[in-house]
Amino acid sequence: MTSEVALPESMLAAVLRTQDEPVFSLERIPVPRPRTGEVLLKVEACGVCHSDLHVARGQIAFPRPAVLGHEMSGTVVALGPGVESYRIGDRVVGGFIMPCAECENCLRGRDDICDVFFVNNRLNGALLDGESRLVDADGSRINMYSAAGFAEYAVIPASALALVDEQLDLASTAVLGCAGMTAYSAVTRGAGDVRGAVVCIIAVGGVGLSITQVVAALGAQQIIAVDVSDEKLELAVKLGATHTVNARNSDVIETVKALSEGGVEFAFEALGSPLTLGQAVRVLGEGGRAVAVGLASGDAEVTVPITNFVRRGQELIGSYGARTRADLPAVQELARGGGFSIANLVTDTYPLERINEAYADLAAGAIRGRAVIKIG
Ligand SMILES: [Zn+2]
Ligand SMILES: [Zn+2]
Repeated sequence: MTSEVALPESMLAAVLRTQDEPVFSLERIPVPRPRTGEVLLKVEACGVCHSDLHVARGQIAFPRPAVLGHEMSGTVVALGPGVESYRIGDRVVGGFIMPCAECENCLRGRDDICDVFFVNNRLNGALLDGESRLVDADGSRINMYSAAGFAEYAVIPASALALVDEQLDLASTAVLGCAGMTAYSAVTRGAGDVRGAVVCIIAVGGVGLSITQVVAALGAQQIIAVDVSDEKLELAVKLGATHTVNARNSDVIETVKALSEGGVEFAFEALGSPLTLGQAVRVLGEGGRAVAVGLASGDAEVTVPITNFVRRGQELIGSYGARTRADLPAVQELARGGGFSIANLVTDTYPLERINEAYADLAAGAIRGRAVIKIG
């Protein structure tokens, strides 16, 4: 390892030890060291995402103890062997899917379904070589959800990084690593060409608002945002929505069909529930495509009206995360050019010491856009 920055021995990290409840304990643990192909980041900020909440509540299985946090930005402070594309001091954002770059899927560009990442990290809480870089003060292993960004330092494979332009606020840029790149991929790969299109986005939390921005930047003509929160819908308008529907006081399917004069070309579902995914399919017009982005509990299923779906030549496609190596730089570029406002998306900031409050607020629906934990 080459390192030009003096590193402390220990760091503050938010460790999840509890089962089935989102309670993090703040602990001092050793600062991890990068191995081949990895860098060490001094974490600037890490986004507050529903996936962490699902993990913390036990709705997504993940081994404990663990440090969560999968959407981070920071400064490179150490390089593992073989890293040539980054230097000490680089400002970077890390994607939550950390591609191995060597498996069959990665070799054909499909970082979003990298076998090595899913097996080693999502199932086993380790980095790509099958080992965690984190231990607690007693030397016992701590698992890592993605690169474990809820800590002062994080080891991350260089393949998961993109450089951050000087003009972007580094802390806010963290949100590109999950919400931003997920939205970018859902639009450009899940949907396709949205220029001039009539689009509906169901659920405008962090990811839905990001989709709103991306479709607006890429030229969608009519953008209908659906949610149960007037506050979130207001923000959606600021970020590019042309129409809003509050699902609490209107019939989503009827209203969207009326607004779009018969149905939309693309419907994005960013919540992950049978009700809303069913709505996404039912608001489609002829030849329309629904893009499912939100994750649900493992046994959740959706029903589709067969005859209508078949006769109108409609489509339903799943879109998970993004092809990190292509899409993270691309969405960073969109942000740099002004097509994706990270400043407007990040509505709440908490210090690491208040991470439990941040997740309680997320669980209560009290975060209007995206929150970040500011660490650096
Ligand atoms: Zn996320
Ligand atoms: Zn791979």
